[in-house]
Amino acid sequence: MAHLVCQSSKKRYPLNSPIWQSEVGGLLDVEFETDWNWASILSRKPSLWRYLEALPIDNEANIISLGEGFTPIQEIEIAQRKVWLKLEYLFPSGSYKDRGASVLISKAKELGITSVVQDSSGNAGASIAQYAARAGIQCQIFVPKDTSPSKLIQIQSYGADLCLIEGSREDTAYATKQATQRHYYASHVYNPFFLQGTKTFAYEVFEQLREKLPDTLVLPAGNGTLLLGAYIGFQDLKRMCLIDKIPKLVGIQAENNAPIYQMFQTNLQKLPHFQPRPTLAEGIAIAQPVRAKQIIEYVKQTRGIFLAVSEEQIIQTWHFLAKKGYFVEPTSAAVVAGLEQYILHYAQPNEKILSVLTGSGLKAIDKIQKIFLK
Ligand SMILES: *Cc1c(COP(=O)(O)O)cnc(C)c1O
Repeated sequence: MAHLVCQSSKKRYPLNSPIWQSEVGGLLDVEFETDWNWASILSRKPSLWRYLEALPIDNEANIISLGEGFTPIQEIEIAQRKVWLKLEYLFPSGSYKDRGASVLISKAKELGITSVVQDSSGNAGASIAQYAARAGIQCQIFVPKDTSPSKLIQIQSYGADLCLIEGSREDTAYATKQATQRHYYASHVYNPFFLQGTKTFAYEVFEQLREKLPDTLVLPAGNGTLLLGAYIGFQDLKRMCLIDKIPKLVGIQAENNAPIYQMFQTNLQKLPHFQPRPTLAEGIAIAQPVRAKQIIEYVKQTRGIFLAVSEEQIIQTWHFLAKKGYFVEPTSAAVVAGLEQYILHYAQPNEKILSVLTGSGLKAIDKIQKIFLK
């Protein structure tokens, strides 16, 4: 039986409850045991919905899909070592957030939801707006006023109601919480159905690499939606005895905004108070990651670590990637800069490593023009 469970009180709620936190304000996770047979999956279309039995949707008619998922994995040489990159920017909206948004909005449709609200500094908002449009669900996206113009234009193009909030990211969060009293909260951070979508990343890596499964995954750690999803997905595969162990998770932050890295390094029990500095890696510039403890716990479970990268490293890596033919967001370059740091200082000689390119460069044209091409 599947249900929602509160991280603090451990209380369970029916899977189909339209809630985003527990009665005590705790974070929710989906508990969902899945069992599928590979033979039937292999004959299906190459999208994340091929893992249907593993996704918490009761009726296939509710699936809202734009053909997302099954992104390619390519080999590339970094710091004289061959590693894999999964091209997670090849999604309909231009970022891997479509994994979570496709599943979350499908679930919203199944629950009979007619309007959703979400807050984001960009890609998650664009992705939710995209699937809400496709589902015919009304959508309101709250963003801080200084969000990059190309992302705002994308959100508006899908017909979402864009609310620009003056002030800090926290002011945006406050305005959003007010709106959640009237509309379903399609948050990539709180709503646990989002992680049920990002977990398909693990299934794909397993299916695509099989006998050569990576020992280590180098992933972004902003709100950790891909990292948490990867852990959940590999845990499923382990439970089904398809793999022996979950790959080591390495989470990458930007030095200028690295609360999880700090928490991990100094063994803090809660988020540090600090003044975040601006970073080119806007996708992982999260000063108050709500699921920080869960992210650190999962990384520790796999004997992984966190690394932080400098602005200079982000710039150099962005140019390196562009010259290899990958036009990505600065945030994606930060992850690969972390990958290089990991290879140079931590990797074992035969360790098989996979990382990701998370977002398209088309998302950040203005920034790229101003900073990288000047
Ligand atoms: C959201 C996002 C990230 C970071 O993901 P988290 O879930 O916040 O850890 C990285 N890159 C891009 C392009 C993103 O949109």
